[in-house]
Amino acid sequence: MESNTPLLAGIEAGGTKYVCAVAQTPSEPLMEARFPTGSPEDTVRQAIEFFREAMANYGPIRAMGIGTFGPADINPRSPGYGGILTTPKEGWAGFNLVNAIREGLDEPVPIAFETDVNAAAIGEAEFGAGIHLRNLCYVTVGTGIGGGFLHDGLPLHGRMHPEIGHMMMPDLDAEYGKNTNVCPFHESCLEGRASGPAIEARWEAAGGDLPEDHPAWDLEAKYLALGAINLTAAWSPDAILIGGGVMQQYGLIDRVRREFETLAGGYWSLPPLELYLQTPALDQRAGIVGALSLARRLL
Ligand code: ADP
Ligand code: ZN
Repeated sequence: MESNTPLLAGIEAGGTKYVCAVAQTPSEPLMEARFPTGSPEDTVRQAIEFFREAMANYGPIRAMGIGTFGPADINPRSPGYGGILTTPKEGWAGFNLVNAIREGLDEPVPIAFETDVNAAAIGEAEFGAGIHLRNLCYVTVGTGIGGGFLHDGLPLHGRMHPEIGHMMMPDLDAEYGKNTNVCPFHESCLEGRASGPAIEARWEAAGGDLPEDHPAWDLEAKYLALGAINLTAAWSPDAILIGGGVMQQYGLIDRVRREFETLAGGYWSLPPLELYLQTPALDQRAGIVGALSLARRLL
């Protein structure tokens, strides 16, 4: 390798799987590993093994970016910085991921710690569908619903970090003779109504098994369009990228655009909806490319 190009490390720390990579250019990993997320100790041990091997091959790591499932303490001024907060995922609540990784590496390495969705937003802004956009929202619709934000080019935090999956939703289920909500905390929130498990609970079939013309997609598009409208009203992004497993459903993004147009009532002057509401260009790669981009931003 070119010895003067610093080696970057990235971790996409998902609730289901971990992806670790090293690269000189974030979009082109030199080496990558993925493994299921187990106990914190096991998972960190596997990550450290990977990075040790990578360093043996490519030399010292100069910076690392981590995009984690949440909620997580991403405030560098907080005493609990680097920790995973109130997750139901066994063993992880209260676990300080950044400290554990730091201790595992022999050399001190600067580490950027962000939510997985903020990392994905950065990946898309640097290499994907959000290039040159300063205010970008990345929404994932999968097992849960989360959103990351780049605000004037920088990841948006707030007191903790936004949790757009729990924005309140009107009950559109009734219109379809249903009443499905899978969020244990709220009567009617976006995640409770529109996540993959919500679709499955409502229609008694996984999203991937429901045909394109099933009423499920009409209702799903309405909830997601309401979410996008609320984001537009509250924060005025340049674009909203909507990804995650559920968005693999063919034609769903077009339905969301149509519903958005109806709901928006012509109020906002926005870019063409094909640009304003898009699926991510990096697809499943946004998280790891974003984690590596976070590392590069530290240099
Ligand atoms: P996670 O959120 O756990 O990282 P994904 O983003 O892959 O995982 O989302 C998983 C969810 O996506 C599941 O609820 C699954 O049923 C749903 N899903 C997967 N493929 C499709 C599809 N083609 N159409 C609709 N939903 C799908
Ligand atoms: Zn909720």
